[in-house]
Amino acid sequence: MSKRSGQTKDGRTVEYVEVPDPPMGGMKKVYFSPDRSYVVAFFHDPQAAADANRHARLDAVLGRFNPTTDPEAGEYWKKLFCWPTGVLNRPTLGVVAPAYPPGYFFETGPFKGKEKKGKWFSSPKLRSYLPEAERGDWRNYFQICILISRAVRRLHQAGLAHSDLSCNNVLIDPSRGLSVVIDIDSLVVPGMFPPDVLGTPGYIAPEVLGTTHLPVRDPKRVHPSARTDQHALAVLIYEYLLFRHPLRGPKIYSAASAEEDEHLGLGAKATFVEHPTDRSNRPPDLRPTVADLGPQLADLFGRSFVAGLHAPDKRPGAIEWERGLVKTWDLLHPCLGPKCPSKWFVLHGTTAGPCPFCGAKPPGPVPVLRLRKEVRPGQWLPDANLVVHDAGLGLFDWHVLANVFPGERADRTRRGYFARHQGKWLLVNEGLASLTSPAGSPVPPGAAVELKPGAAFRLSKEPNGRLAVPDFLPG
Ligand SMILES: [Zn+2]
Repeated sequence: MSKRSGQTKDGRTVEYVEVPDPPMGGMKKVYFSPDRSYVVAFFHDPQAAADANRHARLDAVLGRFNPTTDPEAGEYWKKLFCWPTGVLNRPTLGVVAPAYPPGYFFETGPFKGKEKKGKWFSSPKLRSYLPEAERGDWRNYFQICILISRAVRRLHQAGLAHSDLSCNNVLIDPSRGLSVVIDIDSLVVPGMFPPDVLGTPGYIAPEVLGTTHLPVRDPKRVHPSARTDQHALAVLIYEYLLFRHPLRGPKIYSAASAEEDEHLGLGAKATFVEHPTDRSNRPPDLRPTVADLGPQLADLFGRSFVAGLHAPDKRPGAIEWERGLVKTWDLLHPCLGPKCPSKWFVLHGTTAGPCPFCGAKPPGPVPVLRLRKEVRPGQWLPDANLVVHDAGLGLFDWHVLANVFPGERADRTRRGYFARHQGKWLLVNEGLASLTSPAGSPVPPGAAVELKPGAAFRLSKEPNGRLAVPDFLPG
């Protein structure tokens, strides 16, 4: 173990600790800084330094395409991406990147000290080895899906593509509901020759896998892009919400060769395990299904794995996933079933449950706020739903105002919360300037509105302020 120093292209000296057997990735070996706050990663390939494409790509990724230097939202993006902070050209080509926060390493159990790659959590077999405290509840996986969609949406908005989005390149912390996208230096940058990356088995889009036999520069060969990221993103979300792979089912595509079977089953012949009409790849006893995740997500999965599986331009964009997940987040309800593996479920439809994970029903009627926005004076149209519970549910600007989205720039100050008091459901005002009771009187901060069936009230009288209509769903 000895302290070394390297130099970045912009002339900074960067220290690192050389060890005999550093952690290795497919393309790089990684050393920590003396204080372990950052890492340096050197490319294995000695030719990498001479590759002008790679230099140009790295310069673009650190420079004009870098979301973490955004003056308004940079700090937010630093939590969602492990974005490189420098390019080393001495002693050899490498990148400098922040070290992952401690929450992304297993704290206990047989994998103590290892990085929390997504595959440990999405595979039922690997999951069974994890200590309970590391597994997290279902709502945390839901939040992880929102964060991954947001990160990919940000890349795509800038014209970038990740190219190798997979359970290996997204670290997740289910005990806290956090995720970080890693391996940013192989991004596909607009106008530059793509990196020599195929992807990770299980996440490679069918059209990429189906053309790997063609030469790299053949015009029919399909390379990683935002469209192929959209496939990988849908696979990740499906795995984290349902703990199974969307294409790996019982169907045998080639009895003669396991390799051929995998190649066809994830490529040219891939079939969604939940395909509504072609049930050839459907496992027996498939529960829960995408229909249990509410209409928004059922639609997005249908477009990803039925309509868009072999038609890339029909796949939903990352921004649609982000919006659909955020809308569905507002439908989550705690499950009190004593054996429930999930502890949360999506409450949609006209009755409250049962929970698709364990079959338990909420003990009493569940209030849902039907939110409406004013499209012209006096005309209010349904716009969103908020399932109410008293397990820490807050009210935020994006519930109150129809034109606010809870993205990277949103103000996350809680404006109110829900509580059950002597059999009544209350919305307690904490910071709403013009909350109004159903009878039309002001409800100042510190006071509460009681939720009564059909008794509509204004959350705000500001422009875009919503109307809330309480609806009670029978259990
Ligand atoms: Zn349950």
